[in-house]
Amino acid sequence: MAEVTCSFCGRNKKDVDLMISGIHAHICDKCVTQASQILQEEKKSKTEAGVTPNFKLVKPQEIKKFLDEYVIGQDEAKKVMSVAVYNHYKRLMQRKIDSDITIEKSNIIMVGETGTGKTYLARTLAKLLQVPFCIADATVLTEAGYVGEDVESILTRLLQAADYNVEAAERGIVYIDEIDKIARKSDNPSITRDVSGEGVQQALLKLLEGTSVNVPPQGGRKHPDQKMISVNTENILFICGGAFEGISRFIANRLNTRPLGFASSSGLHPSDIDKDNLIQFVSAQDLKSFGLIPELIGRLPVLSFLNPLDHAALRKILTEPKNALVKQYKKLFEMENIEVEFKDGAIDFIVEKAVEFKLGARGLRSICEAVINDAMFELPSEKTVEKLVITRAYAEEKFSRSQYSKLKVA
Ligand code: ADP
Repeated sequence: MAEVTCSFCGRNKKDVDLMISGIHAHICDKCVTQASQILQEEKKSKTEAGVTPNFKLVKPQEIKKFLDEYVIGQDEAKKVMSVAVYNHYKRLMQRKIDSDITIEKSNIIMVGETGTGKTYLARTLAKLLQVPFCIADATVLTEAGYVGEDVESILTRLLQAADYNVEAAERGIVYIDEIDKIARKSDNPSITRDVSGEGVQQALLKLLEGTSVNVPPQGGRKHPDQKMISVNTENILFICGGAFEGISRFIANRLNTRPLGFASSSGLHPSDIDKDNLIQFVSAQDLKSFGLIPELIGRLPVLSFLNPLDHAALRKILTEPKNALVKQYKKLFEMENIEVEFKDGAIDFIVEKAVEFKLGARGLRSICEAVINDAMFELPSEKTVEKLVITRAYAEEKFSRSQYSKLKVA
């Protein structure tokens, strides 16, 4: 039999770790690695030479349609995001064409209870995007010089997402989670230093407005000997999200609603105001009352909200999206040749518990796990079971025995 050798370097099969065979040729692992490096360098030199990759301009309605496949409800937020992302692309394209009209970037801020899909929306969007994307958490940020991370670390993440291609990172999108956690702690900022509140907001300003920022390539704290990478944030789109717990209070005050009747000065007819979901009326003013500084609000001109998830929405989340939890469990059991059926009663029970625990869709997963974990533990070893029917009674019984059921409802 003929000896197998690499068609590129001629090495013998026994001298390499892996030989991949094609129809008429073979390639060894070393040549694959080398070829990949050549490709990377080639790509890099192209972008460095100013050849910006062409994006496929996805229209807002198409973006929303894609989001609809995964995220239930939240139409307002989806529309706002779709338009913002579309305009972001258009801005990037316009840069190349001479024009005396500058399209300003429209950074977004999203307000919505925990577990309503803010991060999920951003993550889903990332799947569709052709620009680098990263998620950063505002809670770890502190004013420069204090324990914690400098705001520049956000851009470190973006650089990492862009494989340290600065030009690509400069067109990226950043999602900053828990922006409400850097709200000013007290109304009088001069009493104590507020290093993780207003200080961070101030530091974020320059990032959001668009300047050149020196970024530590490996993140963490800046130190004098570290080589910095300069990143211009002018074309980076920032999307911020937060639960803003308690903001309804400010909204209610502003709308001048009282539990007993309304004295409306808001321009809204009292019957238009859905008191159970005041978040839909959120305005920049409420963000200010909550503790965001006006300069920061000004740099996040697009404000949107996410609705609290009710029973019907949670039910849909459990069963309908492309990767709905119920579908995931079915798939897992299918791989064991076991068919799983969730009865309506069981689904209702899981949803009722999620509502009770006030964790939004975030609670669904843990409740499902509590219900189904025994089956996932036992059935793979029991060869005889071909079908598992999860009824309400089954779900209640398994749940009541789980640790989760012992948790107090907040
Ligand atoms: P938050 O609003 O606190 O950022 P997340 O987006 O992290 O909440 O939601 C937690 C999980 O709940 C998500 O990973 C997702 O699986 C599910 N989820 C939340 N909201 C929705 C929704 N509207 N549609 C589908 N799944 C959702």
